[in-house]
Amino acid sequence: MRALPRAIDRTGRGRRVARGGTTGDARARARRNTVGHFGSKVVKVLVIEDEKKIASFVRKGLEAEGFMVEVSHHGDEGYTLATSRPYDVAVLDIMLPGRDGLSILRNLRDRKIPLPVILLTARSELNERLEGLNLGADDYLTKPFYIEELVARIHAVTRRATGAPQGILTVGDLSMNLLTREVKRGETAIELTPREFTLLEHLMRSPGRVLTRAQICERVWEYDFDPGTNLVEVYIQRLRKKVDAEAPVKLIETVRGVGYRLKPRP
Ligand code: CA
Repeated sequence: MRALPRAIDRTGRGRRVARGGTTGDARARARRNTVGHFGSKVVKVLVIEDEKKIASFVRKGLEAEGFMVEVSHHGDEGYTLATSRPYDVAVLDIMLPGRDGLSILRNLRDRKIPLPVILLTARSELNERLEGLNLGADDYLTKPFYIEELVARIHAVTRRATGAPQGILTVGDLSMNLLTREVKRGETAIELTPREFTLLEHLMRSPGRVLTRAQICERVWEYDFDPGTNLVEVYIQRLRKKVDAEAPVKLIETVRGVGYRLKPRP
């Protein structure tokens, strides 16, 4: 019997999740799976993360998807690798022994090394996240995360044409700037609270895909789902008022009995 795949929580402990996949015979899957390829080329990922359990979760998850992965647990070593070997993308933790993640990023950009960087940040590290985007990080992921989310981010940054705007999510005429935290529907600015912003960000990351109430609770509020709560409904209602009420096309859809999603092609 196959074990359920795991996500990683902030302490680095494995947590069972009902979707995604990081278990099974990773090598066999890597051979037949083409997710980690860009064209016919294997995507090489450098992971700089000192928390060994998280690093190993990321390695296993990415290798199972066909990526080639190298891990460093130390900032100085990681920086040396990033500057001396040809990777397609770096996944970079912020708090590290030796050089910290933001210094690594700053040094790479100072040396005009265009290696795409995805930052791994704790939810409390909002300032670091913004500083990272300012320094030229391509995207970020907040711990805890699902391996599929990291895979999607890696594909987005490796696919992104040079010169495409960074850190901006768009669905139809709705846009979200992750750096300035501006949200606009057409030309109209929308004011959101931090929670509303995070909820909308999750919906905008995967337009068309349904997020269940439990997934929303876990990602936006970081706690286990209490089926009795109507927290999610309340926040969805607020978002609808701000995002959809004045617009002819309603973007936020309810999928009855399942959850919510953004209309993929408005
Ligand atoms: Ca760390």
